[in-house]
Amino acid sequence: MSTVKIVEAPEGIGGQGFFATSLDSVVGLARKNSIWPLPFATSCCGIEFMSTMSSHYDLARFGSERLSFTPRQADLLMVMGTIAKKMGPVLRQVYEQMAEPKWVIAVGACASSGGIFDTYSVLQGIDRIIPVDVYVPGCPPRPEQIIEGVMRIQDLIGKESLRRRNSEDYKKLLEEYMVK
Ligand code: SF4
Repeated sequence: MSTVKIVEAPEGIGGQGFFATSLDSVVGLARKNSIWPLPFATSCCGIEFMSTMSSHYDLARFGSERLSFTPRQADLLMVMGTIAKKMGPVLRQVYEQMAEPKWVIAVGACASSGGIFDTYSVLQGIDRIIPVDVYVPGCPPRPEQIIEGVMRIQDLIGKESLRRRNSEDYKKLLEEYMVK
């Protein structure tokens, strides 16, 4: 019999025929293994993401094969590529149209900090306009790094309390970004 565990059980108390854990853990387990990403790809990092989705790297192994091209059916915004300042309001609108709970990854140097494009026209990091949960370094990051970023998001989601989205800290964060 295989000893490989596809999904780790959350912390809890188990015995013959029963397992008890918290609601936060169960919901976190379900959410983290069924992330629906929205790829917001504007340039070369998007090509690395295509590779991440293809058979060799196969993001489907993490339950994230169902990409969403409408923000209303996505919970992970993956921003990949150079974001021109003119594109900023579009990215912001996409973020605002996503329902809670939602998470954001900045993939690559451009999305994280503007990268090599230290110019008047390029946004010097998407965290100037939307909150970011995980930054993936690299120009471009390899698919392994993008997968690592998704796994870090999974860690966050798995540990997130159901109450976090109603917390004062979260409201303050949204206020800082002037998100309605
Ligand atoms: S980080 Fe590098 S590879 Fe990615 S979009 Fe920018 S220039 Fe292209």
